Amino acid sequence: MPTGVGAVVDVSNVCWSGRLPPLSRHFPLLARLELVRDAWHRQYGAHAPLVLVADNSLRRALSAEDRQALRGLERSGELRFAPTADPVLLELARDRGWFVISDDRFRDLRRQHPWIEEFPGRFLSWEWHGGTARLGPSGIRPEPDHVVSRALEYKELKHGQHIDTRVPAHDQVLRSHWRCTTRGCVKAFLWPDRLLDWPSIDRGGQVVCTCCGCPLEEAGPRGAGRLFVLSDAAGGAEFLRFPISVGSAVQLGRGDLSHGINLTASELRPPREVRRVSRRHLMLSLEETPNGPRAFAVDLGSGNGTVLHRSSGRRLEPGERVPFAESDRLVLGDAVAVRLSGRLHLSAEEQAPPGLDGAGGSRTFLD
Ligand SMILES: [Zn+2]
Repeated sequence: MPTGVGAVVDVSNVCWSGRLPPLSRHFPLLARLELVRDAWHRQYGAHAPLVLVADNSLRRALSAEDRQALRGLERSGELRFAPTADPVLLELARDRGWFVISDDRFRDLRRQHPWIEEFPGRFLSWEWHGGTARLGPSGIRPEPDHVVSRALEYKELKHGQHIDTRVPAHDQVLRSHWRCTTRGCVKAFLWPDRLLDWPSIDRGGQVVCTCCGCPLEEAGPRGAGRLFVLSDAAGGAEFLRFPISVGSAVQLGRGDLSHGINLTASELRPPREVRRVSRRHLMLSLEETPNGPRAFAVDLGSGNGTVLHRSSGRRLEPGERVPFAESDRLVLGDAVAVRLSGRLHLSAEEQAPPGLDGAGGSRTFLD
């Protein structure tokens, strides 16, 4: 181990870990941090530096005694607090070339921190065995794009709106439109019929306006939709995301399509090989099924074909309709890749079709 190599500890994650004694008990304990600190010094050297980073919320969750011990660590300069620890500890570890000690997979931060997948060995977690804690690789693996999108959506709704999509009552909030009727509220003025962004849930469980904080009125059910992502099939650079709502279909092609998205619109920066895409190449649709909304794709008899990448690549027959899953990728004319975003909830604003020249405006969507 080279000298000067240290680690950044995800303190809240360690303190809450039911994989350290008392095992399987889900409450935070500072004693778990001590076990991990001991393991670190035993394995990496008594003087190997450690920086401890904790979420602000940990203070409230700990017992009075642990809280006091935590203040001691803070005063000694070993521990720092952050509103959310993850971005802070990842930046520290990246800049110093240090280890991260955490059980977290940091899925929501993979796009901001591509080094996570480049250096999985720098992520350590713990095992409790024979009465001692031992640090070892936490098992970071590359994550598909839709898994990252799903993790980001979860985090954004939870932190931004206090909506936890794993709670059924919260999930239900996302299935309605909402209206603010408060006089003087800017959002009520801008969007009198229904809010175009998400509401928030307050501490009492009420659905409230993110602008004025007042309770909202329900304004009818919200149709579901999914986002599709277009990228350069060779380089991977993303150049457009667009929504399709349940019961709608969109064609992808080149030039002025009457019912589709023009991949050569001047607002886009498609790959140069986009000329291999036919004028009418592919139709994507989102349909209601007993198992929820499902995406389908049909090749419209394109010149250079569409290849479906599932476990291996297979060219679609012209007119063949295939269900399209999150782990699938379609490649149009060897040039443009299509995938389904992992996001499950689109605000009314995100459900608006892209404003593109020629085609791609609202009139281009088939209903
Ligand atoms: Zn309001």
